[in-house]
Amino acid sequence: MSIQLIDTHCHLDFEVFDGWRERLLADARSDNVTRFVVPGVTADDWPRLLATCDAKGLYPALGMHPCFLDQHKASQLEQLKLLLSLNPVVAVGEIGLDFFVPNLDQEKQIELFTRQLEIAKEFQLPVLLHVRKAHDQVLKLLRQLKLARGGIVHAYSGSEQQAEHYIELGFKLGIGGSLTYDRAKKLRRIVMNLPLDAFVLETDAPDIPLAGYRGEPNQPKRLREVAEVFAELRGISLEELAQCTSATARKLLRL
Ligand SMILES: [Zn+2]
Repeated sequence: MSIQLIDTHCHLDFEVFDGWRERLLADARSDNVTRFVVPGVTADDWPRLLATCDAKGLYPALGMHPCFLDQHKASQLEQLKLLLSLNPVVAVGEIGLDFFVPNLDQEKQIELFTRQLEIAKEFQLPVLLHVRKAHDQVLKLLRQLKLARGGIVHAYSGSEQQAEHYIELGFKLGIGGSLTYDRAKKLRRIVMNLPLDAFVLETDAPDIPLAGYRGEPNQPKRLREVAEVFAELRGISLEELAQCTSATARKLLRL
């Protein structure tokens, strides 16, 4: 059986990949990573992102990331709607709440996040969530808004109980390089205890380097190592893990 892995969160449009993007994609494909979801961060980046995704196996998402709050304008919500109506976008993201970073206005984050959740609901799209130290607030908003297609909680960092709540709401948990660190005890317990179809894989390239690769930009080919660690923790084959997580991602995002 041939293994096909899907990187559900990688910032392939970022400038750090200029000049070696094609090689990086070829390397990833030769390590069985065949599809890539590229989430948006700021409105200024959306045109570049859509252009980058104009290639086989690359899928765009558009959204405004909470950590770039000072760059977002209310008028860009209309631009988001326009681009969603004109392009084959697979999700609204990455959006969310970051209460870990100090001095990011929490009220403004909630306002921007809520508007984008409403847009996802209107366009019947799933969402790609960035959530740090704000899982209960995000769960509350998701319960109120009731998105039809759920989404992915990227780089999952919450508790097992919060994970169960996300799953009840139709969400999947994005698992990446953090899992490769021996100290990731809580995350490792979560991937061992919850149903396998609750998970999808991601690298968050160029961020979140795996154990052993610190100090260099992360890249999608490392997804295979994430998958190997995950399969070993579950006591299943790499083939089985790839098959299940890729089927979950394809179904959720309609890839
Ligand atoms: Zn990201």
